[in-house]
Amino acid sequence: MTTPATALEVRLASRPDGLPTLDNFEIAEAPVPTPAPGQVLVRNLIMSVDPYMRGRMRDAKSYVPPFQVGQPLDGGAVGEVVSSTVDSLRPGDVVLHFLGWREYAVVDAATVTKVDPDAAPLGAYLGTLGMPGMTAYAGLTAAAGLREGDVVFVSGAAGAVGSVAGQLAQLLGASRVIGSAGSAEKVRHLVDDLGFDAAFNYKDAPVGEQLAAAAPDGIDVYFDNVGGEHLEAAIDSMNPHGRIAACGMISGYNDPAGAYRPGNLMKIVGWRLRIQGFLVRDHDDLRPEFERRVGGWLREGKLRHEETIVDGIRSAPTAFLDLFTGGNTGKMLVRISS
Ligand code: NAP
Repeated sequence: MTTPATALEVRLASRPDGLPTLDNFEIAEAPVPTPAPGQVLVRNLIMSVDPYMRGRMRDAKSYVPPFQVGQPLDGGAVGEVVSSTVDSLRPGDVVLHFLGWREYAVVDAATVTKVDPDAAPLGAYLGTLGMPGMTAYAGLTAAAGLREGDVVFVSGAAGAVGSVAGQLAQLLGASRVIGSAGSAEKVRHLVDDLGFDAAFNYKDAPVGEQLAAAAPDGIDVYFDNVGGEHLEAAIDSMNPHGRIAACGMISGYNDPAGAYRPGNLMKIVGWRLRIQGFLVRDHDDLRPEFERRVGGWLREGKLRHEETIVDGIRSAPTAFLDLFTGGNTGKMLVRISS
């Protein structure tokens, strides 16, 4: 395939106020850059859209810098090297890198990771074997300190992180795993396909009532992807010395000021609960054991990689917006090229 002179990229057109819309994005043609010494040119095949990108659309200090208006967005992607200035990477190599949201990217060779396209579907390197899978593993092991026999509740359970967290909790010895998700089909999928012991649709009735019914003896670990009413319900259902892995709070991302605040925090004292916030990037030390254990379970068929793929870079903004209305089951991905 000849490299074109120009290619498409997705830029931030304006900062959203509340729920983002397609108007906040611009799809533009840009010259395909030439790699300088130490760099490679990559043709992107598949890219990730993630909830944390909503925070980067805000001009606020955070643990990742904000996207800039008029500039392309970035994020996880897998692509094929088309030209290289370094000996360690050759045209045809498939690499994981951080310049998604564009058809072609010039990337510093030192920042890419070579992946084996025959060992797993490309999307798995952005999902179960990638950042979301690692988030699930670090959250359960390091943040929650999961123990054999724990009753575990996972919110956002049909999503990228949640679907891995629920399956890993089972593999790591939980006695009962309960999930919540936003549709009847997702609830069915959790129980029938992913082996959750119980699941409920959080839109059907108050989360607290449904969780209490699914976990009559209480929960020991809560893996929180949602925050708000889910967090309040989990605290109410916690057994003494329960642990919460605070992974994300998507229910408040589009209106942090108006987000639902749990009213029962005093229970943390009496029940001696632990709420541990964590960021996956602080847990690189776990990567070797994650790759060995989670990679092994995936190869053995004990763990399923779940993904929803939409086609074409022009669909990337819609795919991102769909994260906030539950349009994905498993990892949300955009196929840019094949
Ligand atoms: P995801 O779960 O694949 O996608 C987002 C899902 O959230 C949607 O499919 C939707 O599913 C659900 N959702 C959207 N709005 C909601 C609301 N108001 N209430 C309840 N559920 C809602 O996304 P992900 O990449 O796996 O991320 C999950 C969480 O982990 C996010 O909070 C994210 O920010 C966080 N995260 C944290 C780290 C870290 O290092 N701490 C790393 C990665 C991700 P339903 O159909 O079920 O509503």
